[in-house]
Amino acid sequence: MNKVWNVEDVRKLLAETGEKMGFDCAHVPVEVSSRMEKTMGSFLFREKEGRITAHAFRFAQVLLSGYYDESVVRNVILHEYAHFYANVRDNRNHKHDAYFKRVCEELGIPTHTYFKELLPRTKKNGYILVCSKCGSRVAARRKVDSVNMILKSKVSGCCHAKIRAKKAVF
Ligand SMILES: [Zn+2]
Ligand SMILES: [Zn+2]
Repeated sequence: MNKVWNVEDVRKLLAETGEKMGFDCAHVPVEVSSRMEKTMGSFLFREKEGRITAHAFRFAQVLLSGYYDESVVRNVILHEYAHFYANVRDNRNHKHDAYFKRVCEELGIPTHTYFKELLPRTKKNGYILVCSKCGSRVAARRKVDSVNMILKSKVSGCCHAKIRAKKAVF
């Protein structure tokens, strides 16, 4: 089990980071969301008349839940701080450009944005294909079309028998 983070822990890390970088973010609210499915964290801001105003840091609940190693959680939080630093300090939305990446380097975090892949995959409907003779698993497919194709054209590798499909969630 990894460390479980609460909002205070996140705020503390952000405040320490702001101090270290000489650009304070303690006034920016930290939000935790159970509905983030596509990202682990985001930095929300408003862009108006050439000025960028910080709105909030938002993190996925699963990120803080103890599911991930502490270093992963830190990297995500500092990644969002890097967006804050780059955008608000420079009044420009730097996204993931070279300037942003330099900020990441200064923070000692990876410059890439792999965090999407870290999200636990939600289970979906599909089909498990099994050998009709011995019952061992042959394959798994999401789409009924590819299932039908296999049922029509292939036999099991184990027994050279017909293949059967079973609905499953995986
Ligand atoms: Zn980012
Ligand atoms: Zn078999």
